[in-house]
Amino acid sequence: MIKKIFTKGSKLYSIINNVCPRCQLSEFWPKNNPYKNIFVKNGGDIGHCKNCNLKYEIEVGFWYGAMYVSYFLSILTALISWFFLSFFFNKIELSSQYIIISTILIVSFPIIYFYSRLLWINIYISFRQ
Ligand SMILES: [Zn+2]
Repeated sequence: MIKKIFTKGSKLYSIINNVCPRCQLSEFWPKNNPYKNIFVKNGGDIGHCKNCNLKYEIEVGFWYGAMYVSYFLSILTALISWFFLSFFFNKIELSSQYIIISTILIVSFPIIYFYSRLLWINIYISFRQ
């Protein structure tokens, strides 16, 4: 059961391995490292699949939806950070918490950006052989 979630054909496989949601053979982002994808050529347009020719930007403004996924992931990151801060450092000041959580969010932004687009496109496009 758990093995089936991570094997080829599942949406999680596409998200974790950075592959096209339809054919799962060619990469989605040009690089697997989120920090190397920050400045993608063509102003953030990641183009189409080199294997099945799926255009990743399904319609104009498609990536605006990924912004909401990014917002959700940012809130989740901030909450988890806050939880760990208050659990392990229970005498930490509020201003220090703000600075630490803000730093974590800024540093993790490329990762959040990377996964928000992968999550968003996987909602709409399913695996097809
Ligand atoms: Zn493809």
